Amino acid sequence: MTHVSIIDVTPRDGLQNEPDILPVATRIALIEKLAQAGLPRIEIGSFVNPKQVPQMAGMDDVARLTLERVRLQHPKHFTALVPNMRGYELATTAGLRQVRLVLAASEALNQANFRRSVAQSLADFAAIAARARADNAAFGVAVGAAFGCPFTGHVTPGQVLAIAQQLVDLGADEIVLADTTGMAVPSQVHRLCVELIAVLYPDTAQGEAVASRPTVTVHFHNTRNTGYANAYAALEAGIRSFDAALGGIGGCPFAPRAVGNIATEDLVHMFNGMGVETGIDLAALLDASNWLSEQMGKSLPALVGKAGPVFDRVNMVS
Ligand code: ZN
Repeated sequence: MTHVSIIDVTPRDGLQNEPDILPVATRIALIEKLAQAGLPRIEIGSFVNPKQVPQMAGMDDVARLTLERVRLQHPKHFTALVPNMRGYELATTAGLRQVRLVLAASEALNQANFRRSVAQSLADFAAIAARARADNAAFGVAVGAAFGCPFTGHVTPGQVLAIAQQLVDLGADEIVLADTTGMAVPSQVHRLCVELIAVLYPDTAQGEAVASRPTVTVHFHNTRNTGYANAYAALEAGIRSFDAALGGIGGCPFAPRAVGNIATEDLVHMFNGMGVETGIDLAALLDASNWLSEQMGKSLPALVGKAGPVFDRVNMVS
C-alpha cells in the first residue's frame, strides 16, 4: 500500500489571508483538533511581523501552548514558517525544532514579497542553515511560484531545479514546491516532480526517501480548480508528502488573487478512495472543519463535508 504524509498548514497559510483574526486560544484549539484527527505534521503559524500579518500575532504563545499542551497528548511534528534569521530565533527560542523558510522561484515575486533577489534570499538561508545545523534543528524551504508567477507568468523547471540544487547544498531537510497562486496544471506538475526526483534521488526508485536528501513536498492552491488534479499528478510522479488546509481556506497576502489551499479533508477523501494511506481519521477531520466553519462564521470551500464522504477509510479494493 502507498503511504503518504499530509502536512496541515491551516494555522499558517489557512488563516493568514482571512479578514477575521482568530485569537490564540482558537488557534490552539484548531491545532489540537488537527493533531487529534491524526495529522502527522502541522504548520502552526509564521513568525512574521504582526504589523504586516496581524493574523499571526501571538506566535510565541501559539508555539508555547502547542508544545506544552497539545504535544503532550499528541506527539506530532510542529513546524512554523520563518521569513528570516529573526523569525528562526523566535521559533527556536519558543521551542520548535523544525522550521520552514520561504522564497519565490521568480525574481518579481521574491522582490514583491521579500524585497530582495533570489540570490540574496539563498545567501540569507545559508546563515540560517548553519545555525540550524548547530542547533540540531530541521529546516525546509518552500519555493513559491514554482509553477508560475502572478507577475511574470512562466517559470521554467530549470529555474526551480537550480534553486533546489542550492537548497540541497545548504542541507535542507525538505523542499516544498509551492503553487502560490494556483497556476499549475497536472502535466506540468508531473514533469517538474519527475525531474526534481531524478536530481535528488538519482540512484533510487521513484520517490524513495534517502536520509541525507530532502523530502519533496508539494503545496497546491485550488485557485483555478486544478489543485486536486495537480496533487494526483504529483503522487503519480512519486511525491509522498502534501500540504493542505482544512476547509480549503488560505492564500498569500502578498500575492494577487491567491485563494484557498487544497482542502485537507477532500485530499484525504481522494486518497482514501484510491487506497492511499494517510493515517488520518476523516470523520474527525470533517468535525474539525465544521467547527472551523462555525468559528469563522462562514461556509468553507471544501466539498466532501457538504456532499458526504464515499470513502470513510482507506478503500482496500482499489
Ligand atoms: Zn500557500
